[in-house]
Amino acid sequence: MSLEEYARKRDFSKTPEPAPAPAARAGQRFFVQRHNASHLHYDFRLEIDGTLKSWAVPKGPSLDPTLKHFAAMVEDHPLDYGDFEGNIPKGSYGGGSVMLWDRGTFELIGDDPAAAQIERGDLKFRLHGEKLSGTWALVRMKVSGSKRANEWLLIKKKDEAAEPGWDIEAFAQSVKTGRTQEEIAADLPAKKTAASVKGKKKLSAG
Ligand code: MN
Repeated sequence: MSLEEYARKRDFSKTPEPAPAPAARAGQRFFVQRHNASHLHYDFRLEIDGTLKSWAVPKGPSLDPTLKHFAAMVEDHPLDYGDFEGNIPKGSYGGGSVMLWDRGTFELIGDDPAAAQIERGDLKFRLHGEKLSGTWALVRMKVSGSKRANEWLLIKKKDEAAEPGWDIEAFAQSVKTGRTQEEIAADLPAKKTAASVKGKKKLSAG
């Protein structure tokens, strides 16, 4: 059963009642993995039509709305890939450590289905993640009039979740295990603080 009605009636910045967990909100899931392969990059994945539509983002997503980060659309991944964290063996495709960097749900913005928005090269959505939130767009780049199918830009729209000067390196722990990239690469055990990535941010800011 949906929790939209419950959430609509409450302002969780004012009441101590629990907000619905991101996984319980309306919308499909999204995942971001921090992948230290031949080059460090972030894999941004949206659950669409039973698969994970995927973009490799070298600089990662940013809450800074003045930045437009290049995002290369790559092959669809299976839904089960979203929760993956671990090490891909050297010599295998994508060999290196993979961190589950963020996860949550997203809602499409606009009436057109996701496939149509991707086809026209302008996908808009709202994220409800542990690190990322607010409205975003993925826009296919146009180069001298022609569209290049796999070259996109990931853009944070201006809204209450936007944060100029946001530093992705301040959020370099797994949302699944609390580990750093180095700890994942070394196969060290999960830390118990995985759920408190937002709390850490407040501590360091205050
Ligand atoms: Mn990757």
